[in-house]
Amino acid sequence: MARKPDNKSVRNTTIKVRLDPTPAQAELFEKTFGCCRYLWNQMLADEERFYNETNVHFIPTPAKYKAGAPFLKEVDSGALATVHQNLRMAFQHFFDNPSAYRHPTFKTKKRSKNSYTVYCQYYAAGKGSNIYLTENGIRLPKVGVVKARLYRKPLHWWMLKTATVTKTPSGKYFCSLMFAYAAKPVAPVQPTPKTTLGLNYSLSHFYVDSNGHTPDPPHWLAQSQKKLSAMQQKLCRMQCGSHNYEQQLRKIQRLHEHIANQRKDFVHKESRRIANVWDAVCVKETDLAAMARTIKLGNVLDAGYGKFRVCLQYKLEQQGKPYIVVDKYFPSAKACNRCGAVHDALAPDAKRWRCPACGAVHDRGRNAAENLRDQGLAQYYGTEGQRISA
Ligand SMILES: [Zn+2]
Repeated sequence: MARKPDNKSVRNTTIKVRLDPTPAQAELFEKTFGCCRYLWNQMLADEERFYNETNVHFIPTPAKYKAGAPFLKEVDSGALATVHQNLRMAFQHFFDNPSAYRHPTFKTKKRSKNSYTVYCQYYAAGKGSNIYLTENGIRLPKVGVVKARLYRKPLHWWMLKTATVTKTPSGKYFCSLMFAYAAKPVAPVQPTPKTTLGLNYSLSHFYVDSNGHTPDPPHWLAQSQKKLSAMQQKLCRMQCGSHNYEQQLRKIQRLHEHIANQRKDFVHKESRRIANVWDAVCVKETDLAAMARTIKLGNVLDAGYGKFRVCLQYKLEQQGKPYIVVDKYFPSAKACNRCGAVHDALAPDAKRWRCPACGAVHDRGRNAAENLRDQGLAQYYGTEGQRISA
């Protein structure tokens, strides 16, 4: 399915800032995380009970719970309203598309993310809003002004929509601020075979493109991964619950966050580089089962590939450039890019192969990327079955 360039005029962007709360503010954050989890579980349980009794889906509003659980009154009611909204959306997604979405599940302190979201509310003209930025902080409802490190300031025409407070496993607090702004529609770019890039997912190289290039292997990621497994082994030898054990656990959590940041950094830079240089990118539809198999093999980059594609898509679309997804059943690996013959007997681990029909010798990854580029362009222009020449 060829995606048309996104000409929507409203765009969202997010700024994530590190928070430096006072002990009292941190305590209120913790309380809010807990209340949101509690409310989610209560609402979910009541929804299920109500459905079993009456066969009707219904989620009570947060107000109903405040009498029985007065501690809910101590935290921002906006955060609780968001929980109600999120649970409704979770059910909606599940009912609309049960194969792609799970039935909402209960949250636990251990497994669930520590976070809450508040919608920004604007009062009458000139009266301000419930969330706003100050010189070196963010004003949040109930919490007051929290010290924050604002490295990047929003532009003055951006409109704040939501603020999400999270706590990482190693105990750092962050606030993600989502802004909406109107963007000028961009003229769609018409890609040609020369300005289009095919990307084939690769286990060992992250990807191979249709020119045979792979990104520089980010060795620092592998280094961190090595360090992580050494630290985990050390943890195994420690007595569970001891002081040393707890310290080692915190070190591991910090390293996990560091690796996630390294990966994010790589993914953003690589997608930015491609989106600026090329007019269109063709990728294969994600085959979730195949991805799951490769992730089992434990490649450090796998978790980043999905995010990489998301980044690539919006970075292209912002410039009016198409991001083209080729059907997952298209035989990109087994078709010869020179003559088009499909070599069904190709061994799954063959890195190089000779086409039995025309004799061309192919690098597996590059040939697949070339096929994706050609097929993607044909899809985009509706000329499938014909061969386009440069
Ligand atoms: Zn051939």
